[in-house]
Amino acid sequence: MLSGYRFEVIVGCMSAGKSSELIRRIERARLAYLPTIIVRPKTDTRSKPNQVESRNGLASQAIVVAEPKEILKYSSHAVVIGIDEAQFFSDDLISVVQMLLRQKKKLIVSGLDLDYRGQAFGVVPQLMAMADRVDKLLAVCRKCGSDFACRTQRMVHSDEQILVGDAQYEARCIHCFEPPGEYQLRLELPIETHVPQLALVTSATVAS
Ligand SMILES: [Zn+2]
Repeated sequence: MLSGYRFEVIVGCMSAGKSSELIRRIERARLAYLPTIIVRPKTDTRSKPNQVESRNGLASQAIVVAEPKEILKYSSHAVVIGIDEAQFFSDDLISVVQMLLRQKKKLIVSGLDLDYRGQAFGVVPQLMAMADRVDKLLAVCRKCGSDFACRTQRMVHSDEQILVGDAQYEARCIHCFEPPGEYQLRLELPIETHVPQLALVTSATVAS
C-alpha cells in the first residue's frame, strides 16, 4: 500500500535539476520494490531514445510517447509513474493524470513552469494546482552567478513557444531575465504627491 504524497510535481527553469530529482524519486520507489515507469514526450529529442537523462549525468530507462493517452497503454502494471518534460504534452495530460490517480497510482511529474517569455507553460500550472506536493527548484543564474535562477532565457530569436535544444537557452534570475519586448513589464505607476500615513491603532487609542 502506498503512503505519502500521491501526486508530486517538480518544476523550475532549465538546469534546475528537475529530471535528476525525478530520477532520484523513481529510484527510491524501485528500491522499495514498487513497479515503476518513466515516460517522456516525443517532442523532446535531446535524450537518447528510450532514456531520460539529467544534465548531471543521471539516466534511466524511459518510454517515449507522442500523446498523453499513450501513457495508459504502458501504465497498467506500474504503481509509480514518472512523467518528464510535461510542458510538451497537450491538455489531454490532465484527464490522463486524473484517470491514473483514480487507479490509485502514484505520479511524479516534472516540467518547466514558465516558457521563454516568462509566461505559464502549457499544462504544467494546472498540474501544479492539482498536485499534493509541488517543488519549485532554482538554478544558478548564468549571467550573475546567483543561486536564484527561475527563468529560462532564450538566446536566439524565435516566436515559437516550443524550440527544443539546450544551446539556445540559459538559466537566469529574475533580475537578469530579459523577456521578448512585448512581454516586458511596463508598470506606469502614478506619481503620488501625497503619501497617506497609516496610523498605528493601539488599545489606548481604541479605548479613548
Ligand atoms: Zn542573475
